[in-house]
Amino acid sequence: MKKADFDLVIIGGGPAGLTAGLYAARARLNVILLEKAMPGGQVITSDWIENYPGFPQGLSGADLVQNITQQTKRFDLNIESNEVISIDCSENVKKVRLADRTITTYTIIIATGASPRKLGIPGEDRFYGKGVSFCATCDGPFYKDLVVAAIGGGNTALQESLFLTKFASKVYIIHRRDELRATKILQERAFANNRIEIVWDSVVTSINGGLTNVENITIKNVKTKATKELVVDGCFVWVGIHPNTEFLDGCVSLDESGFVIANLKMETSLPGVFVAGDVRNTPLRQIATAVGDAAIAAFSAEHYIENIK
Ligand code: NAP
Repeated sequence: MKKADFDLVIIGGGPAGLTAGLYAARARLNVILLEKAMPGGQVITSDWIENYPGFPQGLSGADLVQNITQQTKRFDLNIESNEVISIDCSENVKKVRLADRTITTYTIIIATGASPRKLGIPGEDRFYGKGVSFCATCDGPFYKDLVVAAIGGGNTALQESLFLTKFASKVYIIHRRDELRATKILQERAFANNRIEIVWDSVVTSINGGLTNVENITIKNVKTKATKELVVDGCFVWVGIHPNTEFLDGCVSLDESGFVIANLKMETSLPGVFVAGDVRNTPLRQIATAVGDAAIAAFSAEHYIENIK
């Protein structure tokens, strides 16, 4: 077999990628972690995490990422800011094409996570950054004493809406059903918060405003079909996520929603390519499950390398 530049290339620097890096560095693999932006992934936008074990009071997403990154540095994990454009897995030694060069590796761990899904309604793109946002930690403080809408009924919508109530005088949660998807403790807090009003059985059909700002949203009740306009200063969209798999270009098998299929060893359909975290077709997307995936993926990569070398 040809000699590769690396034993392992980890793609993605969220909790999954960093944890895989920690395990691989401690296993003394010749490993590089590639992250297109700065390490952190989606979790960095999380104001407060209270279900990750070991932190009784909770901690911010930014602090958690900083802690894991620091931990990887103790074992000299090589982290590089670079974007993976594509991978070529036609040979045993895989090629990873970056923005500025191509590197070769025996194994890859895909840990590229997922991004917020868009609604695809009129006004969403036009007002992005001018009243439409996907990130409460980034944009919440702009809405002090103002009224905002949050679209969605999952954990993200509720957790982030609760955070928004630190600033906004009112948060409308617009949900398309009469029952929330979010975990019960978040539901209890939302129901108890007098700044939150849930608009049930409703979808937003357009986001409207002037040249530079959002003025209102049009909502439609899916049961009665009645439409009305709700006056808001901003609109946060939290209607799920889509996996970051574009660069894979058919290399590994994906499920019908585009998440990477893996077995219990985190092996994908392609030998030597493993997956961890939100980008995997997993039944639960949590930091705790992402780091668990990552430990297994790094362990499996180590065994794969031992066998081929
Ligand atoms: P999610 O769990 O998939 O929830 C998406 C929500 O948006 C659902 O309530 C869904 O409604 C609604 N929705 C989807 N498409 C819609 C549309 N076109 N129009 C209106 N509403 C729409 O997504 P998420 O909340 O972003 O969470 C993503 C993953 O991260 C989940 O696995 C979640 O558990 C995890 N997460 C966990 C935490 C935590 O543990 N604290 C925090 C954040 C995220 P329906 O309910 O009707 O389908």
